[in-house]
Amino acid sequence: MNDKINLINCPNCGKEVEWTKDNHYRPFCCERCRLIDLGEWAAERYRVPGEPTPPPDKPDSESLQ
Ligand SMILES: [Zn+2]
Repeated sequence: MNDKINLINCPNCGKEVEWTKDNHYRPFCCERCRLIDLGEWAAERYRVPGEPTPPPDKPDSESLQ
């Protein structure tokens, strides 16, 4: 018997990754790739064309008014 290992490619770097329960970063190869991809996804999502969005948590925003 041979267990078939599903190999996928990391969406970030294209490296072959074994799709297993032990791989907490799937479909990515490592934590770094996962975080990078999530970061780009978030940046893409929150980007508003033509309108600069201030950082959500600005501690001293009240003093600016
Ligand atoms: Zn990767």
